[in-house]
Amino acid sequence: MTDRGTAVVTGGSRGIGAAAAIALAADGWDVGVSYRTRSEDAEQVVAARERLGRRAVAVQAEVSEPAEVEGLFDTVSAELGLIGAVVNNSGVVSPAGRVADYDVERLERVFRINTIGAFLVAGSAVRRMSTERGGRGRVIINVSSRGAVLGSAGEYVDYASSKAAVDTLTVGLANEVAKEGIRVLGIRPGLIETEIHEPGRLDRIGTTPPLGRPGTADEVAALIAFLASDGASYMTGSMVDVAGGR
Ligand code: NAP
Repeated sequence: MTDRGTAVVTGGSRGIGAAAAIALAADGWDVGVSYRTRSEDAEQVVAARERLGRRAVAVQAEVSEPAEVEGLFDTVSAELGLIGAVVNNSGVVSPAGRVADYDVERLERVFRINTIGAFLVAGSAVRRMSTERGGRGRVIINVSSRGAVLGSAGEYVDYASSKAAVDTLTVGLANEVAKEGIRVLGIRPGLIETEIHEPGRLDRIGTTPPLGRPGTADEVAALIAFLASDGASYMTGSMVDVAGGR
């Protein structure tokens, strides 16, 4: 099997991140995943990657804490080697609500994890991957949301806005580090079957995309594995939707 190097997937204990970690391992990457609390789920993802013949590690790291993000990258580098791909995937939503009813605690939480967390992960990634800093470049993939474009009215405009900032991070950082060997790409999933949704939400609106169903984490993971591969070598600064036409 091709040996592609080492990847880091934040929020790799379940959902899209877990599927991405397994798809990357199947494609020849050794993969370090981070999680916040669900260590048993993260260890299952490690075992699945080891069954694919790849090396794997799981690290607890709160994505909005700079020292913990640095610790994640240090541990993965020490155990698996030079990092060549980073999937910036950890994210949260808040309970459905209208803008007029949001309080500042809610806003701070969603922007701290989704936006500041994405910036911290991107910064740690560039510090290790940039060819100007001793790295060998390659790829950062930011997981945004179709909500960034659609706005998520009546549910979570704060979440959608926190992801719109991730789209802008993608374009700005791509331009900043293109000559340092790093491609930066973003994906915007639509409705994907994971635990991020409040119970009943997918039953209620899961058939609304033109393709008539929600997507699976594996369908998003296949896109991530492609963007990390040499097949996407002329792509940077782009956002790719994986949303069933929604
Ligand atoms: P999920 O099933 O809820 O998984 C979230 C992952 O993020 C878990 O691994 C979780 O760790 C980790 N995480 C959450 N908060 C964290 C924090 N503060 N620090 C570190 N890790 C944290 O979510 P998902 O649906 O796979 O979503 C993955 C990404 O896709 C998110 O950025 C989400 O916004 C985006 N997205 C999802 C959809 C969708 O329909 N599912 C659509 C568009 C975009 P623990 O397991 O330890 O809690």
